[in-house]
Formats: sequence, structure tokens, C-alpha cells
Amino acid sequence: ERVNNDFQFVEVARQEPQKRPLRHRKTRFIEINELFKPQEATEQAHRCLECGNPYCEWKCPVHNYIPNWLKLVSEGNIIEAAELCHQTNTLPEVCGRVCPQDRLCEGACTLNDGFGAVTIGSVEKYITDTAFAMGWRPDMSRVIPTGKRVAIIGAGPAGLGCADVLVRAGVTPVVFDRNPEIGGLLTFGIPEFKLEKTVMSRRREVFSGMGIEFRLNTEVGRDISIDRLLKDYDAVFMGMGTYNYMKGGFPGEDLPGVHDALDFLVANVNRHLGFERSPDDFIDMKGKRVVVLGGGDTAMDCNRTSIRQGAESVTCAYRRDAENMPGSRKEVKNARDEGVKFLFNRQPLAIVGNGRVEGIKVIETRLGEPDARGRRSPEPIPGSEQILPADAVIIAFGFRPSPADWFADVQVEVDSQGRVIAPEQSRYRFQTSNPRVFAGGDMVRGSDLVVTAIWEGRQAAEGILDYLGV
Ligand code: FAD
Ligand code: SF4
Repeated sequence: ERVNNDFQFVEVARQEPQKRPLRHRKTRFIEINELFKPQEATEQAHRCLECGNPYCEWKCPVHNYIPNWLKLVSEGNIIEAAELCHQTNTLPEVCGRVCPQDRLCEGACTLNDGFGAVTIGSVEKYITDTAFAMGWRPDMSRVIPTGKRVAIIGAGPAGLGCADVLVRAGVTPVVFDRNPEIGGLLTFGIPEFKLEKTVMSRRREVFSGMGIEFRLNTEVGRDISIDRLLKDYDAVFMGMGTYNYMKGGFPGEDLPGVHDALDFLVANVNRHLGFERSPDDFIDMKGKRVVVLGGGDTAMDCNRTSIRQGAESVTCAYRRDAENMPGSRKEVKNARDEGVKFLFNRQPLAIVGNGRVEGIKVIETRLGEPDARGRRSPEPIPGSEQILPADAVIIAFGFRPSPADWFADVQVEVDSQGRVIAPEQSRYRFQTSNPRVFAGGDMVRGSDLVVTAIWEGRQAAEGILDYLGV
């Protein structure tokens, strides 16, 4: 029962859910955070000050009604809280797990100034997981079918966000994905220790129950043409992500033993999910000295996957300092706890080896003056070269847009960097240069976050509904 105490935030400290013991975490592909127990969730939610102008809501990219659902949880009202969560977010349990809360909602919490922010992400995960376990499903009983159908290319967070809003408005979304499971990078990218795969298979069942149709193992442009989709559907939404690997451009990148981050992560997921085509596809780090290059979320996931595969050592080399790492702080800490060694201010010059990788030559850097965007570029310190011994190197420098060759055939324009042009601020939100085609997520904004892809997919759905006059 809720205790009426406005000073809960003083008496009850910020508390994250329990983490699984390190010796389990380091060898298994299971989520490291346990779910809050009901009393913990109630107490933590009750710490919210219910600020008049909640900064957390503004900073959250989907503008969740955070203080409102925290209040419902503090009163033990999980089902209403789940309903409210889903008014703004398509995948609250996913965002609760993988959003970089320290930079978003929790970073903006008034209590972050000394008392410790409310554990918003963990409560968001708790609400949806608990509601599903109680048998809750989205209520579709008042939806009036319009007879309209929209094709969605890509079952990642952008495509799912779009499908969710459309189906609730009575439009049937038919989602095409070349992969055998929904989720995009949520399934074939982000590892199980951040997001267990049953979360997405449960979502597939829930979405199918809501009336969203999935055509998996179907690549648009190969198994079905975009012309066919434009003929058969009232509009098309593209949420196809970004899949061109960024390269370092230094010698030795093609040596055996050097791997692209996503190839490594996907091979690992495929083995666990039973999608592996040949055992040769698996990239095994057992017993190896692994060096991961990069400092973002992808690099952290490669570090921690290598640890779990039984690498002899895992070193993460990054060209800036810890302060300037783009990855989520909590994941850097988790990586460190699990035994990853960080080498900051190291820029790779070459991967060296005779016939296969034996080491990586790096040079120390110091940070120069801030550039126009305020980011300080690393400058090499002459004479500070060293060779890090390595049996395997993973390159995690991020992704560039990967426009399909059929875009031009259907008059979909891209910008100079290859991102699809689909402005948020236009008559129909996220409409491309082809009026019947809309787009959102990483393919429009460049590689970013799950929650921003969800937001764009949802907003594009609003644009489509306006365009169709629904
Ligand atoms: P995607 O998730 O890439 O989905 C695109 C989908 O389109 C894919 O399923 C693809 O198969 C499909 N597709 C593409 N072309 C076709 C076609 N022609 N026909 C049919 N299907 C097609 N973000 C966070 O917020 N937190 C994190 O912790 C985090 N960790 C990450 C870790 C890794 C390793 C990576 C790579 C990314 C991470 N991100 C994280 C970023 C996040 O995953 C992405 O920003 C987000 O998934 C983008 O969503 P999307 O829907 O635009 O694209
Ligand atoms: Fe925070 Fe992400 Fe949830 Fe928004 S969606 S409240 S940013 S965890």
C-alpha cells in the first residue's frame, strides 16, 4: 500500500534492480538485470516528486507520461500504467532495458541533482513485463476497420512503431522483413545480456493478436518488388536501418582474424536462436586475445560478447578519453565489471600480422581544441606508437546509410550522405519525395537509438493517416 510521504526520495535511496552475480553474467547470454520485486518498484516509483513541468518527459524522445505512470505504479495500478505507457511508446519494455537513460529521462530528473534520479527505465520495464505476465493485452475492441492497408519495409523499432499506430487507427499494416524474426537490430544486433530474445518473440505474438501481419524471410527488391507494394497497398513505410560498415582505412583491415562488429554479433545470435546456416559462420573468441576498436554501444556489446564466449583477454581501444565516449555510461561500467580492459586515447594505425592478425599498432592521442560541433578531435602524440598483441580484432566504428538500388526507380531521394530525405516538419510527417512512400528511423536520421526510431515510425504513421484521410 502506498504510504503518503512526500519525502520518500530522502528516505528511500535510488536503487537499481539486483544484478545477476558476476560469475553467472560472464559466462551466460542472459539479461544481467533482474526485474524489480513489486515492493521495490512501488518504493522507487514513489520517489518521483511529480514536478509541475517534468523535464524527464521533455527529454524522453517519445515524451512518455512518466510522472503519471510512476504514480500509478506507486499505487499498485499496473494495468492502467501499462495502458498509459502504450499511449506514447510502442516497446516500453525494450526502451526500459536499452535506452541510455543517463543521457535521457533519468539525466533530466530533478533528483539527479544529488539525491539520485528515479529509476525510470527499470520501472518502465517492470510495468510492461508485469502487465504481460498478468495476461494484459492492448485493447483493440473499439478500433473501427478502415479497409486501408499499408506495407511496411523493416520490422525494426521504426517499422513496429509505425505499425502500432496504424493498426490502432484501423489500418492494416503488413510488415516485410528479410530476417526470420521481427525486431531488426533488437533481435539481430543487441545481445541477450541487454535484451533477451523472448521479449521480441512475445511482442510478435502480441502484435499479431492486434492485427499486424508479418511477412518474414521476405526481402523487398529481391523476393517482392517495390512496384508490387505500391500497386497492392495504399502507402508504403520504409524503416530499413543503416547497414554499411564504417572502415578505419588503415592497413591490415582485410587480414584473417579481423571482423566487422555486426557480423560477429549476428553470428552469435544466430547460433543461440538456431538460425545458423553453417557452423563456419560462427566467430569464436574462446581462448583468444581480443581487441575491440571503438567506443559506442556496438563496441561495448562486442566486448561483453567476447567475454562470454571465453576470450583470454578483451581490450577496448578508443581514440578519445572516457569522458568523450559515445556509449551509454551504464554499459561501459558493466563491461568494466565483467573484465574488459579499456585503453583510452589510442588511435589505430595498422593491423599487423603475417597471414593473419597478430597485433594492432596504435598511437597515443591527446584531445585538441573543440571543432564547430564542440567535439574535441584526437591528435596523435609523435613517438608514442605501441603494438597491442591480438589474435582477433573487432572493428566497431559504426554504420553509414545503405540506400537500396531501387530508391531511384520510385523517386525516393537521399541526401549527400545517403540518408533518405523525409522531413518531420512537412505537410505529411516523414513523407519522402514519392508522396506514397514514408520513411523513418536510422535510414533517415543516421544510426541513432531504438527510442528515436520508434518515435519517427510513430510520427510517420500519423503522417500516413493524414495522407490517407483516415
Ligand atoms: P533496424 O533496427 O536496423 O531495422 C531495420 C530492419 O529492416 C531490419 O530488420 C532489416 O532486416 C530490415 N530490412 C532492411 N532492408 C530490407 C529489405 N529490402 N527488405 C526487407 N527488410 C529489410 N540503441 C539503443 O537505444 N540502445 C542500445 O543499447 C543500442 N545498442 C546497439 C547495439 C548494436 C550492436 C547496434 C548495431 C545498435 C544499437 N543501438 C542501440 C541502435 C539501435 O539498435 C538502432 O538505432 C535501431 O534499431 C534503429 O531502428 P530501425 O528500425 O531504424 O532499423
Ligand atoms: Fe526513458 Fe527511454 Fe523510457 Fe523515454 S523511452 S522514459 S528515455 S527509458
